[in-house]
Amino acid sequence: LANVTHDLRTPLTAIRMYAQTLQAGKLKDDPERTRDSLETIVRETAWLDSVIDRVLTWRAAAKDRDTLELKSEPVRAAVEDALQRFGRLTVPGEVDLSIQIDSTAPVLHDQLGISAVVLNLLINAYKYTTREKIITVAVQDLDRQVSISVQDNGIGIPQRELRRIFEPFYRADSRLRSRAAGAGLGLAIVHHQVRSHGGEVQVESTEGVGSRFTVLLPKADLEGRRA
Ligand code: ADP
Repeated sequence: LANVTHDLRTPLTAIRMYAQTLQAGKLKDDPERTRDSLETIVRETAWLDSVIDRVLTWRAAAKDRDTLELKSEPVRAAVEDALQRFGRLTVPGEVDLSIQIDSTAPVLHDQLGISAVVLNLLINAYKYTTREKIITVAVQDLDRQVSISVQDNGIGIPQRELRRIFEPFYRADSRLRSRAAGAGLGLAIVHHQVRSHGGEVQVESTEGVGSRFTVLLPKADLEGRRA
């Protein structure tokens, strides 16, 4: 609960601060800072939304296999939707983002579900990078699967923690990490969503160098079933 609260408070505090500055009329002769403040308020509201989304969906993701709206199509639209939502959470130019989508194979998937998976991985890549944030998203067709990977140049994850990071509410321990707000639900959602799509999540990480999360989803066959 403390972590969820902290995760909600961080954007809320920023929203209140900027709104109060505007309310006090301190920026009335400064249109540029007024615009910046409004943009920050809108962006932080989007963060708040994404936190609430995580809290509300982590349980649903675990059990609601039947409520997935499955369609057999390439994952491009889901990935692009996540990238667009991610763009609303960050300051333009803040992230050096490379995107390579080379996949055309159909995958039986729920677009919202896979978009949430990619968004959660992007949010983590963002939160756990300190210096210049370099994030690479690659989507490609493999033999029987489609691979979606999100790579960052962040703080990395100690080997001994890799086993546990997909558990709900688990947060790897480190002083650096505790500065990034989080409830420990992002990867639990990723894990459950991907499992309910018949796929798997792999992680490679080196402390101080970065991490790469790879989601592997089975390609659909011609009848739209999982191959
Ligand atoms: P949260 O980010 O809210 O703590 P997650 O379930 O998304 O929760 O992640 C669990 C833990 O895994 C995080 O607390 C963090 O320690 C670690 N982690 C996840 N993604 C990354 C990443 N890209 N780089 C470094 N650490 C990560």
